[in-house]
Amino acid sequence: MSFILAFLLKNKLGLKNGVNKLFSKDIWLHPSSRLDIKLLLFNGLLKIVIVSLWVNLIPETTILFLKGIRFILPEITPFKTGAAIYFYTIMSFTIDDASRFLTHYFLHRFKFLWRFHRVHHSALVMTPLTLHRSHPIESLIMFFRNIVTHAATTALFIYCYRSHISAFEILGVNALGMAFNFALSNLRHSHVPISFGKLEGFFLSPLQHQIHHSILPREHHKNFGICFAFWDKLFKTWKPSEGEILEFGLKEESSMSFKKTLISPFRN
Ligand SMILES: [Zn+2]
Ligand SMILES: [Zn+2]
Repeated sequence: MSFILAFLLKNKLGLKNGVNKLFSKDIWLHPSSRLDIKLLLFNGLLKIVIVSLWVNLIPETTILFLKGIRFILPEITPFKTGAAIYFYTIMSFTIDDASRFLTHYFLHRFKFLWRFHRVHHSALVMTPLTLHRSHPIESLIMFFRNIVTHAATTALFIYCYRSHISAFEILGVNALGMAFNFALSNLRHSHVPISFGKLEGFFLSPLQHQIHHSILPREHHKNFGICFAFWDKLFKTWKPSEGEILEFGLKEESSMSFKKTLISPFRN
């Protein structure tokens, strides 16, 4: 519901032009969008292979963290489990958001990592599927980041409450994450310029992520966050939205061939 409200109230193009932009045939059939879909399928397949080869990946990582915590910290009287599920849902979402911000920040700061991340920034047009446009190496980095943060948070809560606590989930996804994606963030990768006005000081708007995709290199290093704006404020990379971003991509030419995209980070 709030997604529809955001579209209606905050979209700078107005409803008709916004809908036209979102479903534009020229954007969805563009070679850049076709590459998004190929990368999405390839990365999805890669994760299925890893998960099927290593089925106990998440529990094994959690146990490893739990052993580490118990080795470092003394035995404690378990906390009361009263509001644990709320606390865990908020904490796991916040830690996940912070780790996404940091990983994204490093993908830009380290030249070696940028070689992979530039595939995401080479998108010339954006649809919500562009979220999944990443080189398989970046996709693996994000996959293991997710497992490590999830396992570390779970281990910490098992240590504090001495029982396994689950977050509120919708279809296996943290309910807060799902609500944020649905309400605020699924048009980050689109040509619909949705700004949040003064709220951008707390939550990053789709238009702020579109600034991150602008062809102007100085804007690439702005707005690394996903949900909360305070990580970017802390690292002085926060930029409020202004007008619509008219051109996405990189200054240098990028190939839209799947094969060339896969090998491009290993060249020169
Ligand atoms: Zn980036
Ligand atoms: Zn992006």
